[in-house]
Amino acid sequence: MLRAVLDPRRWPLPGGCQICLAWGQDRLCRDCVTRFAPALDRCPRCALVLRAGACPDCLREPLPLDATVAAVDYGAPWDGLVHGLKYHARLSAGMALADLLAAAVRRSGVAMDGVQLLPVPLHPQRLAERGHNQAHEIARHLSRALGLRLPSPLVQRLADTPSQALAPDRQTRQQRLREAFALRAGASVAGQHWALVDDVMTTGATMSALAALLRRHGAASVQAWCVARTPRPTD
Ligand SMILES: [Zn+2]
Ligand SMILES: [Zn+2]
Repeated sequence: MLRAVLDPRRWPLPGGCQICLAWGQDRLCRDCVTRFAPALDRCPRCALVLRAGACPDCLREPLPLDATVAAVDYGAPWDGLVHGLKYHARLSAGMALADLLAAAVRRSGVAMDGVQLLPVPLHPQRLAERGHNQAHEIARHLSRALGLRLPSPLVQRLADTPSQALAPDRQTRQQRLREAFALRAGASVAGQHWALVDDVMTTGATMSALAALLRRHGAASVQAWCVARTPRPTD
C-alpha cells in the first residue's frame, strides 16, 4: 500500500519534476533533462541514434517520412511517464513529455512552417476503454508550445494493432497496417504539410502506414514526431 502511494507513476505531482519529484516551476527539472534526455546525434530520417556516419537502417530501407524527430530513447525513466499517461491518464506526465518533444523539434531544425499535427489515432474500442488517446494529449500541448494547428481528427483507425502480433509474417503485418487507417469522408490533406505525433515509435511501421495514406491523398510532406524512439536491438 505504502509502495503504491509512493510510486511516482500513481502520484499526479502537479507542481514538481515528474521524474525526481523536486518541487519547482518546471514539469521536468534541468538536472533530470541533462541526465536522462541528452541531445543525441540522431538520423534525420528515422531518429535512431547515429553511431558512425550514415544510418544503416535507412541505407537498407528508408522510411517514407520526410523527417523523424525523437526526444529520447525509449527506456527508464521515460517509460514510467508514458505508462502513467497511457494507462492512468496522468496528464501532467503528458505535458512533461510534450515539453520534451517540443524542445527536440525546435533543436532539430525540421521545417515547421504551415505544419499541422496529426496524432496517431486509436481504434474507437481502445479509445472507449482508455477514455483518452495519449498521442492526442501530447499533440494538444505540442500545438500550444509550438504554435501549430491541430485540426479535428482526419484519419480513422479501422483495425486495432494487437491483432498485428498474430500476423504470420512481416509482409502481412505491413498489408494489415496499410488497411488499418482511412481518411474520414470529406477530409483533405492535399498540398499540406503534416507531422504525425505519437508517444513511442518502435519499428516505424505505424508511422509509415499513416504517411503512405497521407501521401496517397496528396500531402506535400509528412514527418513523424515522437517522444521516445525504441533503439535498434543491437544498440
Ligand atoms: Zn528532476
Ligand atoms: Zn535512419
